[in-house]
Amino acid sequence: MIRIGHGYDLHRIVPDRPLILGGVTIPWDRGLLGHSDADVLLHAITDAVLGALALGDIGRWFPDTDPQWRGADSAALLRQVLADPRVQPWRLVNLDATLQAERPKLAPHMDAIRQSIADIFGADVAAVSVKAKTMEGTGPIGQGEAIAAHAVLLLEPAPQP
Ligand code: MG
Repeated sequence: MIRIGHGYDLHRIVPDRPLILGGVTIPWDRGLLGHSDADVLLHAITDAVLGALALGDIGRWFPDTDPQWRGADSAALLRQVLADPRVQPWRLVNLDATLQAERPKLAPHMDAIRQSIADIFGADVAAVSVKAKTMEGTGPIGQGEAIAAHAVLLLEPAPQP
């Protein structure tokens, strides 16, 4: 048996916040607004894991009304999901994600982002694809108001020890 999951997220661009994508801090003069560290890519990926197993969504697991998750490291949140007894019997086959961002240029950071995500899953980097697209200047993303991320992934049963 295999399970497919899809996730999507969007965060608003603001000054005086770090830009963290896939667990990697990207040097920029702006960042993303959010209750946690606002890692839009890891949020989409976390929702894809939860979606694959019909376990709800990141907002239900880590409510933004809960001060416990203020400034939370999204990599730690994803690790917590992966360690859940309902998720642990599954392992990643592959993951494909697309970032929508007009700026900054993300190509120089893609290898680091892919490796960071692979490390969180304990997977080979060859199983993790991350792409970036601009919106050709159109819409809120193209106008530099927000960054969005889409993710799909496939899970298969992990080998039993
Ligand atoms: Mg989010």
